Parts: sequence; C-alpha cells; structure tokens
Amino acid sequence: MPTKLSRRDFIRLCAGSAAAISMTPLLAPLLTEAAEAGAPPVIWLQGAGCTGCSVSLLNTVHPDIQKVLLEVISLRYHPNISGAAGDLAMEEGIFKVAEEYKGKFYLVVEGAVPTGANGKFCMVGERDGHHITFVDLVKEVGSKAAAILNFGTCSAYGGIPATPPNPTGCKSVPDIVKNVPYINVPGCPPHPDWMVGTIAHVLLYNDIPELDRFGRPTMFFKDIIHDNCPRRQYFDNAIFAKNLSEPGCLLEVGCKGPIAHCDSTTRLWNGGTNWCIKSGAPCLACTEPQFPGWPVYARVPEMPIAPGITATTDQIGIVLGAATAVGIGGHLAGNIATGRIGPKKHSDEKDGDN
Ligand code: SF4
Ligand code: SF4
Repeated sequence: MPTKLSRRDFIRLCAGSAAAISMTPLLAPLLTEAAEAGAPPVIWLQGAGCTGCSVSLLNTVHPDIQKVLLEVISLRYHPNISGAAGDLAMEEGIFKVAEEYKGKFYLVVEGAVPTGANGKFCMVGERDGHHITFVDLVKEVGSKAAAILNFGTCSAYGGIPATPPNPTGCKSVPDIVKNVPYINVPGCPPHPDWMVGTIAHVLLYNDIPELDRFGRPTMFFKDIIHDNCPRRQYFDNAIFAKNLSEPGCLLEVGCKGPIAHCDSTTRLWNGGTNWCIKSGAPCLACTEPQFPGWPVYARVPEMPIAPGITATTDQIGIVLGAATAVGIGGHLAGNIATGRIGPKKHSDEKDGDN
C-alpha cells in the first residue's frame, strides 16, 4: 500500500510523539492516502465493558476524530457513533461487510466476552428474529477478520469484567477466537494515540506491528513506568509517600509502576495535560494482563511480576533473573537488594525517624 512514510519512520513517529502532540492530526493525511488507495474497512464491536475505551478515543484533541473514524478510515460500524442502529444497521454494517471483505477487514473489540449462560448475559442484537449473543458475534465476525484489534484490557486480557468471582464467565477475545492474528492495545482505558496509531499501522501497511509477548505493540508498550518515573529520585532515596498526592515515591500507596509497560511518562494524557503519577495517583499497571488482580491503593504484598510469578517486593531483588526477563528495571532490584525499599520511610519523616 503506497505511503510516503516508511514503516520505520512511522514507528518513530508513533513512539516519539510526545506530550501535547496528538497523533490523530499527524496520521489523518496518511489515513486519507490509505483510504484513497483502498484500505480495508474496520468494524468495532462492544461487549462487557464501560465504553471507556471509545470515550478515550473520542476524547483525543483532534476536533474531527469522529469524521476521521467514519469517513477517513471507513469505520463501518461502531455502537456509539454510527448514525444507524438496529437490526438493519447490524446487517449492513457488520455481517455484510464481514462477508464482503472476508480475510481483509479489521475487527476492533472493546470489552470482555461473557460466556456464562451460553452468552446470554450480553445480547447485542437480533437476526432473523433470534437474539445474537456477543460471544457468537465475536466468534462469527472475528473468524473472518484479517486481524482483531483488542482495544482495552477487558478485550485483551479479561480486565475488570473477568476478575473473580466473574459471575458472567467473562473471557478475553484471544480466549474465544483462536487462529486469527490479534493485537492487544490494553489500558483501562487505552490512550487515544495507542488506538489511532495501531489502526493507522494496520491500514497503512496491511500488517501487524511488532508485538511483545503479551501481544502489545512495542512502539507504545516497551517502556516501564518505573524506569522513567519523575518520582524516581524519591524511590532511589527511599522516600515514600503515605498518602495520595504527597511528595514521595507512591509505592507504599499502591504504585505498580515497576511492572507496568506504557509510555504515559512522555505521552501524557488529555492533550498533554497530565498523567496518572503526575496527578498524585499510583500507577495501577492497567496495561498488564494481571490487572486488576491486586489491591488498588495499598502496597502489594506479592508483586505479580508476570502471570504465575509473584514475589514480595523484598524478594524482587532475589528474582532478578526472572525479573529482568519480564522487564523489571534492574535498578529496582538493586534498590531492594541494598535495603532502600525495605524499612519504610514516609515523606513527612526525617532521616533517623525510622
Ligand atoms: S514505584 Fe511508582 S511512584 Fe515510585 S518511582 Fe516507581 S513508578 Fe514512580
Ligand atoms: S501509567 Fe500505569 S495506570 Fe497510567 S496508563 Fe500507564 S499503566 Fe495505566
């Protein structure tokens, strides 16, 4: 597919675009070019979630995001912004498109997939007088897609809806649709740039970007929050806040930055206004498969450094070998090993108070 931007330059543009520079205006001309060259359509489905991922995308600072979605990238169906609704809209916007562009279109899924009670916890429409469950819709449409883009931690990993006791039997999309390539763009919600950039990549290059072992595009998710955190100096000097919004490292009030992969430290949110830790809140590691399986505003006694691998913060230094493999900053382990993260010192305590 012709484009003036090489893939390498595209990755650089996405990975390097920083605070206050929304990627939508940068990518809109490229998307227009791709659309004119016949880029395949996109279908967006919503399951068990809060619609926050769509809201995040629509919150991008680009004033015409809706126009970009519907007119430029040929988004044929979106439950919130498509003008049409009802059975006819589903037939025209989903089923016909999936058949006509079989193996070529891209499916975006937002929300987890409820499988309990044969999927009846999530009815999304009707066809030929019969209810359609979300699980059946995702299976049918997903199996025809060129690739599935899971936007948000719910569709990528199960997220909040799949958290125990999980009465609706929610699962991630990759657990439901097998043998179809997928890209996970997690976050609760994901940053709009992560979604726009991922859609742009598949439409411009008709290919999947480089992914990490949890299916995330490395152009957005390779960095660890803890490694670039502006409060890192506090951590290195063992100064820990004991309340939200206090100065100090937020580890004791629940920060999971040491295991969180995303580029919020440089990209910032809401048009470059702020981001989680800068606003005084701990990072919840909302982009990780383990989210939200931990106490929110408390120090995690067992840090889930990877699925199936946990360690107390004091042990993280000991499991450095495994930790390095999953991207834990070596500096973190070093600080634990030297005892900086052991006995607690709070931001209002002076040296010698401990
Ligand atoms: S634990 Fe959290 S607040 Fe502390 S330095 Fe790491 S990322 Fe920043
Ligand atoms: S900084 Fe942490 S809480 Fe904020 S978006 Fe990234 S992973 Fe999620």
